[in-house]
Amino acid sequence: MRCEEVQDLVEALAEGDVGPRAEVGAHLRTCVHCSASLSRARQIDRRLRALPVPVPPPTFTAAVVRRTRSIRWESEQRFDWWFNTAMAIALTIIGVGVWGVMHVTGLTAVTVGTADFLGRSLPALYERVKPELGLYLTASALVIGALGVWWWLERAGEPRQTA
Ligand SMILES: [Zn+2]
Repeated sequence: MRCEEVQDLVEALAEGDVGPRAEVGAHLRTCVHCSASLSRARQIDRRLRALPVPVPPPTFTAAVVRRTRSIRWESEQRFDWWFNTAMAIALTIIGVGVWGVMHVTGLTAVTVGTADFLGRSLPALYERVKPELGLYLTASALVIGALGVWWWLERAGEPRQTA
């Protein structure tokens, strides 16, 4: 067995994690270098075990959880800020692009004309609909109510999900 292989096992042997294999034992009996390493590692392990184990304060776990949550929250906030900024830039570029294309093709004039037309014709439409407005509202309320009952029955028929 080579020294490098035994050196890799020295710490585990000193801590007792690995039982001594016959070939490792044979190498340690003949190699001064590896046996010195093992006795040094055992000495360190003994001294470490002799040290008092510090007891964490009772609030330790809660403090770690709180700090972890705060770090995660900060990272999510940072991600949200970058995402929103990127979305705002993208929407601005798209808006400018659409406006540019509309301007180049002369569509802006048509759109302004359409908005102007709607602005003038909507009040006229309202005046015409006004006498029957109560009827339209009642009919709409009935349709919405029927859809609501249908939705409620559909939901009540679904099997309950257990968490
Ligand atoms: Zn060796």
